[in-house]
Amino acid sequence: MNPAASDARLVLRRPGAPGTVVPLAGPRGAIALGGRDFVVMAGPCAVEDPAQIEESARAVAEAGCAVLRGGAFKPRTSPYAFQGLGADGVRLLLEAARRNGLAAVTEVMDAAQLPALEGVALLQVGARNMQNFTLLQALARLRRPVLLKRGPAATVDEWLLAAEYLLAGGNDQVVLCERGIRTFETATRNTLDLSSVALVKQRTHLPVIVDPSHASGRPELVVPLSLAAAAAGADGLLVEVHPRPEEALCDGHQALRPRELRELTDRLAPLLDAVGRTLWRPEPARRRAAR
Ligand code: PEP
Ligand code: MN
Repeated sequence: MNPAASDARLVLRRPGAPGTVVPLAGPRGAIALGGRDFVVMAGPCAVEDPAQIEESARAVAEAGCAVLRGGAFKPRTSPYAFQGLGADGVRLLLEAARRNGLAAVTEVMDAAQLPALEGVALLQVGARNMQNFTLLQALARLRRPVLLKRGPAATVDEWLLAAEYLLAGGNDQVVLCERGIRTFETATRNTLDLSSVALVKQRTHLPVIVDPSHASGRPELVVPLSLAAAAAGADGLLVEVHPRPEEALCDGHQALRPRELRELTDRLAPLLDAVGRTLWRPEPARRRAAR
């Protein structure tokens, strides 16, 4: 075992203690992550323009999801690739989310971007920044919900110690996200490490979600991997969806179409029922389902 692993303290689950529930502020009230509800967050990889994010938000709301995703500050492998709309993108994301009754999640790459991110319910630390300790310390002081993605080559202990930075700095509003790790396999973009999802659910008290889009890089694998994640005990999903994937400026090759997102939520509901969980649905949909 990595000798530093024993330093993970605050993130560890105490025997018998309940899991941490992270409330996300949304226009319809708080969405509890880590409770009985399974929370689906969906949206495009990047906010591209007002029409694209509005159409995406409508699709996400129509599929009964809780949270709209959309990157505005984008960590791109190539410096020549679309880098995101920055603060304007955040504004478009928040407006589309509010109009469609959704909470919002987006990535923060640098603490200097935080003033532009007021109103974002969940601040995403991307895989590439998992061990940006200065950023983690700044987010610890902020005490707002943080989504900590696992680094593409991070061990479980390194991931938990990165979360420990947030808790040690006073922020226990932390959600972990497994998004695939780099292995010898090239048939998929990354390898979804569901063993770690089950392990981390046992070892920590923090909610854990799965990103099947970056994990697989293939839209046809998103539904099966999502069902597997739900069965393995995940508390939710982060899924990429785009109204026209072929026109996307970022990650279109892995995006679901709106119809496929509805199929995903339809197929999740009975599976979650079988494992004692409930798919989060907005109130009117819950009432419809109960009739
Ligand atoms: C993303 O969510 O669009 C993203 C960049 O993810 P990751 O940090 O997991 O690569
Ligand atoms: Mn992406």
